[in-house]
Amino acid sequence: MKIKRIEIIGFKSFVDRTVLNFEPGVTAILGPNGCGKSNVIDAIRWAMGEQNAKNLRGQAMEDVIFGGSKKRRPHGMAEVTMVFANPQSAGTSEFNQYSEIMITRRLYRNGDSEYLLNKTPCRLKDISELFMDTGVGARAYSIIEQGKIGSILHSRPEERRVLIEEAAGVTKYKARKKAALRK
Ligand code: ATP
Ligand code: MG
Repeated sequence: MKIKRIEIIGFKSFVDRTVLNFEPGVTAILGPNGCGKSNVIDAIRWAMGEQNAKNLRGQAMEDVIFGGSKKRRPHGMAEVTMVFANPQSAGTSEFNQYSEIMITRRLYRNGDSEYLLNKTPCRLKDISELFMDTGVGARAYSIIEQGKIGSILHSRPEERRVLIEEAAGVTKYKARKKAALRK
């Protein structure tokens, strides 16, 4: 799965609509301390369904909404949209007809939230399933943050196994088995 574009509105320091286009090849984001580089990664992780505010460097989920500055009032909503090129193998057969997959997450200050898949409201589960076994996703190995390599090396075998299962493509089947056994 390749990211083609990210659109960010009212998320952390991105108060106005900001569009990042990822051209073919390698993309690097550069800038002075505090300019919002890590906030881009937080936006990606959040759009893909991260539920733990601490993994987004905040205390509560509301902290992802633009909190205001000297010149700008706080926002009432944060929204992040990610557009992926759709490789044939990704997603369920239902999605193979699309050349792009678009996911959107919104959070309002009153706590309401929405997830959209190709502009249609969906469940968080639909977004999570879409990324299972692709190596992409809120917690998957496609995001290697500071200290991650060390934590993989020092993790217990059961924890490391989760990464191997994702790479081997069995995460989705394990999740489905777990859900089926619960019923
Ligand atoms: P460094 O080079 O130090 O890692 P960085 O470019 O990664 O910096 P970020 O951590 O992405 O910087 O951005 C930090 C900035 O984002 C801070 O100025 C902080 O005030 C701002 N910020 C974070 N959350 C919000 C929010 N909810 N509302 C407004 N601004 C926010
Ligand atoms: Mg940073």
